Amino acid sequence: MLLENNFDIKMLTSFKIGGKIKKVYFPSSVDEFVEILKTEPEAKVFGNLSNTLISSDGYDGVIVLTTKMYNVDFYGTRVVADCGIKGPKLSRLAAANGLSGFEFMIGFPGTLGGNICMNASANKQCISDKLVSVLCFDGSEVKKYTKEQMNFAYRHSVCMEKKLIVLSAEFELENAEIPVIKEKMDMNLHFRKGHQPSLALPNCGSVFKNPDGDSAGRLLDSIGAKNMSSGGVHVWENHANFIINDNNGTSLDVLMLMEKMSNAVELEYGIKLKPEVRYLGGNNKIEEELCKKLLIESIKNQK
Ligand SMILES: Cc1cc2nc3c(=O)[nH]c(=O)nc-3n(C[C@H](O)[C@H](O)[C@H](O)COP(=O)(O)OP(=O)(O)OC[C@H]3O[C@@H](n4cnc5c(N)ncnc54)[C@H](O)[C@@H]3O)c2cc1C
Repeated sequence: MLLENNFDIKMLTSFKIGGKIKKVYFPSSVDEFVEILKTEPEAKVFGNLSNTLISSDGYDGVIVLTTKMYNVDFYGTRVVADCGIKGPKLSRLAAANGLSGFEFMIGFPGTLGGNICMNASANKQCISDKLVSVLCFDGSEVKKYTKEQMNFAYRHSVCMEKKLIVLSAEFELENAEIPVIKEKMDMNLHFRKGHQPSLALPNCGSVFKNPDGDSAGRLLDSIGAKNMSSGGVHVWENHANFIINDNNGTSLDVLMLMEKMSNAVELEYGIKLKPEVRYLGGNNKIEEELCKKLLIESIKNQK
C-alpha cells in the first residue's frame, strides 16, 4: 500500500494551496482502506480535495486519500461504485452504458465519497436522487445505510454529523438513449463555461452556501466583492462566489478574503454567509481563529 510521510499536498488540491501532511495513505482497494481506518482511528478521509482548503502550514496528522479506489460494476440499471471514483468518470461510464442520472457530475471534480458527504448537486440533479444505499465504516464496523439514514439536506449528510466514512455506494439509474444522455452532459458543461471557473484557474468551487431563498453570488456581487483580493488570491470577475488562486496564494490569504466578503455582506444585509468550503489545518492560530469567526468546518476537530 502507498504511504507517504511528510507529504507536500499542495498540487493535489484544486486550490493548489496546502502544506506538509505528516502521513498520507493512498489505499487501492476498499479492504485496504478499512484496514487503514482500523489501525489509524484518528485519520481524516478526503477524495479529490476539491472542496477543502488545506493550511499552507500543514497538518500534523494522518489523512487517507481515496482516489486510487475507482472500481465500478454495472448490473442492468444498478450501479455499485467505490468512493474514490471521480464524478466525471462515473458520468461518462454511465452514459456509455445507456444510463441516465449522473449527467450533472460531468462538470466538477469531486469523488463519489466527497459528493455523498457534501450532497453535491448541479443543474437540478443531486447525488442523492438515484442513490439506493451507502456502505460505510463507522469507526468499528462496516454497515449499509439506506438513503433515508444518510440525512441528506442542502450540502449536508450524516457524514458531517458523525464520523462515517463512505466506502462505496449503490444507485438505481434509468435507461435512456446514449445521444440524449450525452446532450444533457454537454448542456451541463456548456452552462458551466460562463458560470464557473475551470480548474485552469485554481479554485475550490463555491466558497459560501446559498442562504435560504437567495444566492450567495448575488449578495456578494451587490457589495462589490468582484473587486476584492487578499495576497495571491482574488474573487473571480465572472461570479462573486468563487476565489481564484493564480498568484501563489496561501490558506491565510483565502481566509482573510473570505472574512472581507462575509463581513461586507453581513454589514449590508445582516446575513451571515455560511462557508461551503471545509478546512484542514491546526498549526496556525490565526487561521484557527478566522475559521471560528467564519463558521468554517474545521475537519481536525471532527470526532
Ligand atoms: C471547479 C469546481 C466546480 C465545482 N462545482 C460544484 C457543483 O456544481 N456542485 C457541487 O456540489 N460542488 C461543486 N464543487 C465542489 C466539490 O467538487 C464538491 O463539494 C465535491 O463533492 C467534493 O468532492 P471531493 O472528493 O473533492 O471532496 P474533498 O474536498 O476531498 O472532501 C470534502 C468533504 O468530504 C469528505 N469526504 C471525502 N471523501 C469521503 C468519504 N469517502 N467518506 C466520507 N467523507 C468523505 C471530506 O472529509 C470533506 O469533509 C466544485 C468544485 C470545483 C473546484
